[in-house]
Amino acid sequence: MTAVLQTDPPATPVRTTSADTAPRRPSLSPSRAADFKTCPLLYRFRTIDRLPERKSRAAVRGTLVHTVLERLYDLPAAERTVEAARTLIEPAWAELREEPGMAELFAGPDVEPSSPAAEGGDEDGLDAWLASAGTLVETYFSLEDPTRIEPHGREELVEVTLPDGLLLRGFVDRLDVAPTGALRVVDYKTGGVPREAFEAKALFQMKFYALVLWRTRGVVAAQLKLLYLKDGDVLTYSPDEAELLRFERTLQAIWAAIERAVSTGDFRPNKSRLCSWCDHQALCPSFGGTPPPFPAEAAAAAGWRTTLPVTVV
Ligand code: SF4
Repeated sequence: MTAVLQTDPPATPVRTTSADTAPRRPSLSPSRAADFKTCPLLYRFRTIDRLPERKSRAAVRGTLVHTVLERLYDLPAAERTVEAARTLIEPAWAELREEPGMAELFAGPDVEPSSPAAEGGDEDGLDAWLASAGTLVETYFSLEDPTRIEPHGREELVEVTLPDGLLLRGFVDRLDVAPTGALRVVDYKTGGVPREAFEAKALFQMKFYALVLWRTRGVVAAQLKLLYLKDGDVLTYSPDEAELLRFERTLQAIWAAIERAVSTGDFRPNKSRLCSWCDHQALCPSFGGTPPPFPAEAAAAAGWRTTLPVTVV
């Protein structure tokens, strides 16, 4: 198995899944796999119980910046300037702020205590937050020249069912295809990354996408590229087939562990420094809480196999 994955929850972009792209049955994504590796109980709360979570300004800023960078490529190549990108921020925010839970975002303290705008709760907080999104967008231009890139896909859903039935799904921020057919997978990161976790986190998510693309297209991606917009850093990596095969077995092992946990309803908490960002401390035994009864019926209805009693209506 690869090194223990560190996650950066506050800056994980908020992605809404439309009915068109909703999984047909239980599936594994990089973020859900990361949840389970971080804390099985957190995985349960998010994926099985589907408990609501507060939005953080950092996560929403990630969504905003991703939207701007996606739309930047709607423009003709010569018009993809920093100024043009900055003008995309306000309209993207105007759409985003209409979504549920956004009204509270600047009505009180941020859920991420370390956020630069944490003390906001007013328009100054919003202005500073929008300015920080602009800085991230501007940093993007120091890492790539968008006038020289024609993406093959943006916010692209990639999925594959492995021979053992495991459904892998994920959204690739950008997929580039060279005239030679070579693939490049690009992912934008808006949060700061703990240095020691830099490589492990990057490799896990990007190998996931590379595996799905290899299994669907028969081509091993020539390059996996992560753009860290906060730090102005770029990480590139070139996987090979043997490595993707090993990674596939890692995902299958994670999935087998998830299925065992669903079958018995036994999801253990795993206390770590990441608990500071967890919305579910009140229900967590590690913090003196009691989880609600395992929702076996909801799990069965969602396609999970469980040995727990399910009321048949
Ligand atoms: S508080 Fe920590 S241990 Fe408890 S569910 Fe959340 S991440 Fe897991």
